[in-house]
Amino acid sequence: TRRDPLEQEFHQAVKEILECLVPVLARHPQYQANAVLERLVEPERTISFRVPWTDDAGAVRVNRGYRVQFNSAIGPYKGGLRFHPSVYSGIIKFLGFEQIFKNALTGLPIGGGKGGSDFDPKGKSDREVMAFTQSFMTELYRHIGQDTDIPAGDIGVGAREIGYMFGQYKRIHGGHEAGVLTGKGLLYGGSLARKEATGYGLVYFVQEMLAAQCQNFEGQTVVVSGSGNVSIYAIEKLQQLGALVVACSDSGGYIYDPQGINLDTVKRLKEQERARISEYVTAHPHAEYTEGSTGIWTIPCRIALPCATQNELDEDAARALVSGGVIAVGEGANMPSTLPAINYFLQQGILFAPAKAANAGGVAVSGLEMSQNGMRLSWSFEEVDERLRMIMKNIYRSSVRAAEEYDMPGNLVAGSNIAGFLKVADAMLAQGVV
Ligand code: NDP
Repeated sequence: TRRDPLEQEFHQAVKEILECLVPVLARHPQYQANAVLERLVEPERTISFRVPWTDDAGAVRVNRGYRVQFNSAIGPYKGGLRFHPSVYSGIIKFLGFEQIFKNALTGLPIGGGKGGSDFDPKGKSDREVMAFTQSFMTELYRHIGQDTDIPAGDIGVGAREIGYMFGQYKRIHGGHEAGVLTGKGLLYGGSLARKEATGYGLVYFVQEMLAAQCQNFEGQTVVVSGSGNVSIYAIEKLQQLGALVVACSDSGGYIYDPQGINLDTVKRLKEQERARISEYVTAHPHAEYTEGSTGIWTIPCRIALPCATQNELDEDAARALVSGGVIAVGEGANMPSTLPAINYFLQQGILFAPAKAANAGGVAVSGLEMSQNGMRLSWSFEEVDERLRMIMKNIYRSSVRAAEEYDMPGNLVAGSNIAGFLKVADAMLAQGVV
């Protein structure tokens, strides 16, 4: 807090982890003796750069680009790029910090990084998005590579943006270095099931958590916030498993459809037309639209999956969910619940799947995309999906095990933080003071 007093989200992410690590440090003095924590919270490298581009009116605009290469103890930096007006160093650092532990949990050899820009893709023409992404990559290219740092998508960065960035990287760098970005289109090195991976993986993780209590999704009422990549494919898998998903949202508001969300409509609005979720009611007049996204948590449900953005679920929302009968919460977004909200869920005995563990499916399949690129082959959808399922099961098991070993049975927040930390910390110790 002394060095970067304004980076609130980063402090929040660090606090959550450090609180969980108290018993680990007490049991293993070697981490403190070698200043592992002090090294972990300082990124290996932070890059910030100017991104000039020209809008459709011919005016020159300037945004700020970032890449934080946080930790490479277990592999090359890996993590998404976020394009959203709220992006500043505190957001990128919190995301990069969380990514270190998430990537370690997947069992794949990938380190943690994150990047992005305060550019707002909303309302921009295709040409403007291309002009911006090409300018962004014109600086970023010198810092990335398939063995050093492999960016992917996040909020505001989907297949279109990755495609434009890949094209520009190739043009500057030469060669078809497929493994430099993940989330690519299927025609040029992308992996089947990458688009679905975070949402599906989240549902597989929560499925494990429910199964341990002899529960499942069949017939359960579910609320999912957001209507982007993670939300859409979480809803798809939930519906395949027999759940009734009654609500989803965007930053403008939320829809409540007691008959169950029509996913074809949501996909059309969000994936094709880039429209607002409010337009859902035009196609389904029996559904209700409410302005403002946070009210979504007042809808009674058994399972809640926050899949939009950080701090979208505070303590009041947590109380509303518990009053409404929630039994399980699974975080699809990064850090969607505030610390008081998490503590409230844990106190109330709600099954809680923390983001680092539950949303690791996206980066896991990105890791599988890198493997396929390296081998110059493509696995089938079923093969990737099956590997994803196994990875989520293993993350669940290692989180449960770590929580038990440190006398916090059932606390997956502590379990996932500890399991991820131990792996990274031991790799750092093995590599000396670097
Ligand atoms: P998208 O850009 O595809 O979608 C984001 C969704 O969240 C949109 O519906 C957006 O609405 C909504 N949203 C954004 N801000 C708010 C807000 N303040 N209140 C309510 N809704 C809001 O992003 P993703 O689905 O890829 O990412 C969602 C979350 O999941 C992020 O936290 C991301 O870091 C995390 N994540 C994503 C992974 C991936 O593979 N994509 C992997 C792991 C984590 P609007 O269009 O109005 O802005």
